[in-house]
Amino acid sequence: MSALPVLSVKDLEVEFDTFGGVVRAVRGVSYDVHAGETLAVVGESGCGKSVTVQALMGLIPMPPGRIVGGSAKLKCQELIGLNQSQLNEVRGADMGMIFQDPMTSLNPTMRIGDQIAETLVVHRGLGRDAALAEAVRLLERTRIPEAAQRARQYPFEFSGGMLQRVMISMSLACTPKLLIADEPTTALDVTIQDQVLELMREIQREDQMAIVLITHDLGVVARMADRVAVMYAGEVVESGSVDDIFYRASHPYTQGLKEAMPDMHQHGKDRLEAIPGSPPDLFSPPPGCAYHPRCPHAMRICNRIDPSTYPVGDAHQASCWLLDEGAPGPAPVQGDRHAG
Ligand code: SF4
Repeated sequence: MSALPVLSVKDLEVEFDTFGGVVRAVRGVSYDVHAGETLAVVGESGCGKSVTVQALMGLIPMPPGRIVGGSAKLKCQELIGLNQSQLNEVRGADMGMIFQDPMTSLNPTMRIGDQIAETLVVHRGLGRDAALAEAVRLLERTRIPEAAQRARQYPFEFSGGMLQRVMISMSLACTPKLLIADEPTTALDVTIQDQVLELMREIQREDQMAIVLITHDLGVVARMADRVAVMYAGEVVESGSVDDIFYRASHPYTQGLKEAMPDMHQHGKDRLEAIPGSPPDLFSPPPGCAYHPRCPHAMRICNRIDPSTYPVGDAHQASCWLLDEGAPGPAPVQGDRHAG
């Protein structure tokens, strides 16, 4: 692992103006991801995991959104504060993206080959013929059969899994240092999901790309991630290696997510435990620990003072009062990794 992270996000804060008031969607998020490494960012819907990456990619509409603090560096380049044309350049050349629905990123009226070639002309300065030939090579690299013929087709002629391969081809066009994948396999059936994840892994091994994988699926995390950041109510509440999170989860929310995993059921548990209650209203997050209304271990201090972030192990940390030396009894730790 290189010393300098490919992506370093520090204390990022993002707000949105709405008719109901200001929503504090991202509240001081920090994480790093290195070359050849996959960082999975997990949490329930609305926890801020997608908004964080959209903010650093310049994809949130401003207004109503605004970045009110923090930084995001791609290698040494600060991304926060770049104008749209500077961001377009970075997005095309150094940062690739894959989203849940590839159709939102593809032009339905353009042939697939032309869309990939356009990126190559703009960002790699290739001539038209060379760009089209390279587009076919990229489609072949993502194992799209009869790539030359497929390059002449339109998006509606592709299945969901094939479109996701096209998106991977497009995002690889400029051999980016960083790939951001936001729920890339959520809309795919299990077999196709496996193929797309394996393809991402294989390309990562070859190109040493850093990957930020946004997902709510701990099975995908177990399969893909090297490290994990668990987000709740706009904050990272626990981070560590994939083994730390699956074997030694220290935050009650991470433990709740694990209890809700379907694979637990197949390994001897009588029932899946849903986390009671709902995520907090980010118009006015609760005082103290945002998880306290749902936490089975909440103490008196929890609804008054935000917990510090405590080291749990090497590169493993969590924000929970149970980890304070003055807490009553040891923090609960769970074992058993039961994921895909
Ligand atoms: Fe639960 Fe308190 Fe820890 Fe928050 S700080 S997760 S409420 S024990």
